[in-house]
Amino acid sequence: MTSRELLEQLVAFDTTSRESNLALIEFVKGYLAGLGVNCEIIHNDERSKANLYARLGPAGNGGVMLSGHSDVVPVDGQNWSMPPFTLTGRDGKLYGRGTADMKGFIACVLAAVPHFLAQPLTQPLHLAISYDEEVGCLGVRTLLDALSRLPEKPAICLIGEPTELKPVIGHKGKLAIRCEVQGAACHSAYAPQGVNAIEYAAKLIHHLTLMGQRLAAPQRQDARFDPPFTTVQTGVIQGGRALNIVPAECQFDFEVRTLPQDDAQEVARALERYAQRELLPQMHAVNRDTTIRFSPISGYPGLDTAPHSAAAQLLAHLTGSDAFSTVAFGTEGGLFHQAGIPSVICGPGSMVQGHKPDEFITVEQLDACDGLLRRLAAWMCQKA
Ligand SMILES: [Zn+2]
Repeated sequence: MTSRELLEQLVAFDTTSRESNLALIEFVKGYLAGLGVNCEIIHNDERSKANLYARLGPAGNGGVMLSGHSDVVPVDGQNWSMPPFTLTGRDGKLYGRGTADMKGFIACVLAAVPHFLAQPLTQPLHLAISYDEEVGCLGVRTLLDALSRLPEKPAICLIGEPTELKPVIGHKGKLAIRCEVQGAACHSAYAPQGVNAIEYAAKLIHHLTLMGQRLAAPQRQDARFDPPFTTVQTGVIQGGRALNIVPAECQFDFEVRTLPQDDAQEVARALERYAQRELLPQMHAVNRDTTIRFSPISGYPGLDTAPHSAAAQLLAHLTGSDAFSTVAFGTEGGLFHQAGIPSVICGPGSMVQGHKPDEFITVEQLDACDGLLRRLAAWMCQKA
């Protein structure tokens, strides 16, 4: 099957992150089995979703891993002018949810499998398809556990997130945290007898803003990233029931998007210290039962692969460009890298179309990715 035919199949599976991806995984498993390739299916605890891992070519250490996520973001509330789960071709563009992010890449990889099988590969080619990437890079963690048990660890991982096939070697990390302030309610006429959870949440959020300003100081900036500094942002807040009640509860969610050299946990710890040392004593002076609790929502590490690493040099060879750049969005690359597999990012399509209504990939990008994978197959036939 061609990459376009495979993309048509893949887009037809509604793999929105809240849904099961098992039908897609079964399809890929069947496709690979038809080519004589066995794969390993790594389920989640509920067995409602799964990662897929397969190896082609010789066993042994090293080799290249091609990695993509099978899930897509929801189409709810988006105004699509064509059906999101049916591939529609028009004027050199292929429309459908996930065409750019990132079923286009997976389709090219699957279409290239017969070619890889026909080549005298001197090193293994690893294929990895994950689930729940779009909701915090959750699924790939069990895949990495499984990989750590394999005797053959890939030497390089290529993540096919859409970069218009430009070579990308870095992105920021992210940490998302929920903060719950438990105050003490009372009639607002006696406000000093209560502990106003909204007001304490506001102090915490203000503290986050100040930390964000310090992190943006010129001497901390890194021009490779946009924006060139670590950012801190509060995105959701709720609390209070009526104006004449001092609110007992307020919770808010914030995120820290870090330069690879900054530590998001340090921001979280600094906020907790502020809560412990400054705010809780004031709150406890009024009511001993008041609390401030922090709980992680999601996160992934940043990626900062060295331009002279073997992974980056391979990517330069495949793309014909060593104009390495970074992307603003996160990928599973940081987790692969953390697990000891140097990672780079390069895939067909553009994230400008990702997550939007009428998401598309151009036929030209799909063809170019087919070509890139041919060059990879040739490179993998070289004698070590
Ligand atoms: Zn993606």
